[in-house]
Amino acid sequence: MEDCIFCKIIKGEIPSKKIYEDELVYVFEDIAPTAPIHYLAIPKQHISKLDEINEDNSAVIAHIYEVISKLANELNLKDGFRVVSNCGEQAGQSVFHIHFHILAGRPLQWPAG
Ligand code: AMP
Ligand code: ZN
Repeated sequence: MEDCIFCKIIKGEIPSKKIYEDELVYVFEDIAPTAPIHYLAIPKQHISKLDEINEDNSAVIAHIYEVISKLANELNLKDGFRVVSNCGEQAGQSVFHIHFHILAGRPLQWPAG
């Protein structure tokens, strides 16, 4: 996707602070963190949003959750953490390349607003 900011981050055309990378997934620091730990996990394949997950592309989503689990253990997030994927404008999605916010390091309110 030519105009997608996260595709550009994956290609290295826009700088980012990398936390983890493999052949399918890229994890980096959110540029405007809302918690002491605020990372974004994204598939290298462009999927716009959560309601575009289907039987053809869901394997990468399962893999993203494996990566998140591994990172949570490596980072020792034993006090708890949250994974959020906003889908659509009313939910607050501002970048239309699917992403999973990983939030930790402070008490997190629930329910979210
Ligand atoms: P959402 O609003 O759920 O679509 O989340 C998009 C997130 O992307 C926001 O938390 C932004 O702070 C973050 N973001 C936007 N541009 C960048 C960037 N260039 N590098 C890192 N994070 C970004
Ligand atoms: Zn993209």
